[in-house]
Amino acid sequence: MAPPTRIGLAGLAVMGQNLALNIAEKGFPISVYNRTTSKVDETVERAKQEGDLPVFGFHDPESFVQSIQKPRVIIMLVKAGAPVDQTIKTLSAYMEKGDCIIDGGNEWYKNTERREKEMSGLSLLYLGMGVSGGEEGARHGPSLMPGGSFEAYKYIEDILLKVAAQVPDSGPCVTYIGKGGSGNFVKMVHNGIEYGDMQLIAEAYDVLKSVGKLSNEELQSVFSEWNRGELLSFLTEITADIFVIRDDRGEGYLVDKVLDKTGMKGTGKWTVQQAADLSVAAPTIAASLDSRFLSGLKEERVEAAKVFKSGGLGDILTDQTVDKAKLIDDVRQALYASKICSYAQGMNLIRAKSIEKGWDLKLGELARIWKGGCIIRAIFLDRIKKAYDRNPNLASLLVDPEFAKEIIDRQSAWRRVVCLAINSGISTPGMSSSLAYFDTYRRERVPANLVQAQRDYFGAHTYERIDMEGSFHTEWFKIA
Ligand code: NAP
Repeated sequence: MAPPTRIGLAGLAVMGQNLALNIAEKGFPISVYNRTTSKVDETVERAKQEGDLPVFGFHDPESFVQSIQKPRVIIMLVKAGAPVDQTIKTLSAYMEKGDCIIDGGNEWYKNTERREKEMSGLSLLYLGMGVSGGEEGARHGPSLMPGGSFEAYKYIEDILLKVAAQVPDSGPCVTYIGKGGSGNFVKMVHNGIEYGDMQLIAEAYDVLKSVGKLSNEELQSVFSEWNRGELLSFLTEITADIFVIRDDRGEGYLVDKVLDKTGMKGTGKWTVQQAADLSVAAPTIAASLDSRFLSGLKEERVEAAKVFKSGGLGDILTDQTVDKAKLIDDVRQALYASKICSYAQGMNLIRAKSIEKGWDLKLGELARIWKGGCIIRAIFLDRIKKAYDRNPNLASLLVDPEFAKEIIDRQSAWRRVVCLAINSGISTPGMSSSLAYFDTYRRERVPANLVQAQRDYFGAHTYERIDMEGSFHTEWFKIA
């Protein structure tokens, strides 16, 4: 079949190339374009090899745009930021009234809102669509979070419904998220939650390996077992695999040779910044981000270890014997309870933004579209969806009756793991801050009264009382 094609895709790196092949495989002829034209030829060649898929390559933007049926829809998958503006400029020069551009990158939501306005000045429609699932997801079924023009969403709803991951009983992992930059915002928080999940899993690994002395084979078996229960998820599954992948450049296992320095591209940092801007506590996600910052100080940590070792402080503070089976079971429970806290924080952040912007986001529906295709896909998301189905106005996942019961059942194990880690000198910032979050949230009275009294003492900031209405100020220093 020759053009006009149904849709176009510009930006043929990992994500774009795979999404284009996915779209073509679902029966939608697609035009493709990339600034560096060798990637166009590469994509067309791959399309031939993967089953003669209807992918049509173009080396210049004008013939690319003109090859698409009207109203034209073009998905961009280029590096976020200035490259998106440059690509829009290149493509929009040939687009016509009513055509639509979709940015599928991890873009800052305000950039999407700015561009949507600029595009409407040219009578073009615009969507910012979060795409999760990495290379595999893009090729075989990602989770898609489109936000912006509803009219534009309707143009391509049929494509998105087929291209997204399909989850039995839950449907395709896509829904119209909401107006403006909501699709990008939701994808950003999804990534923040992903940071939390990865950090919590890494802490479980650290406690089991450093204190429990589990071998890589044992770790593989524990995580595989966990992946058959409440912790079943993509990240648990790949973690089990990672433990026993042999080093192809030397002896032993590859994971033990990987430098302990975590990279990042910015979405976790944006999530924490947004949480602070909206006064939403997100300590688990913030702890994950801080852990990445500290991991980056490898050289400093090596020097610090020398200082403390020469002072008599080793890596692990105690050499206590632990009951391995009990430890494994405790860590499983601590990981699960911490995860509930992390998701509660992410969901509350999304809700706060939705209220601020009037987006009317449906938290249960977001949990549904994260059940497949994306990096945080997990059986647990079905429980979250059900919690919001039971009560769409749930103040926090923590107080959903089912989650509350699960936390109560696990809290002793959770405390044992955090205490063991603290006593062993192993940092578990994700699990510890999740526990602190829970312990703060569940207490009727916290020591904020004292902080408020201090504020009034030195700054006359006033305080409220528990026993009478009004705003009070005391000249504390005169009484003291
Ligand atoms: P990437 O490495 O983020 O970007 C490479 C693409 O951007 C190439 O097509 C490149 O074209 C193009 N590009 C860069 N600067 C440009 C410019 N000034 N003008 C025009 N094109 C330019 O690619 P990616 O990893 O496939 O990711 C694409 C988007 O999806 C990003 O926003 C990323 O954050 C997001 N994302 C990535 C993943 C993932 O797992 N990789 C997952 C979810 C979302 P040339 O070939 O000409 O250099």
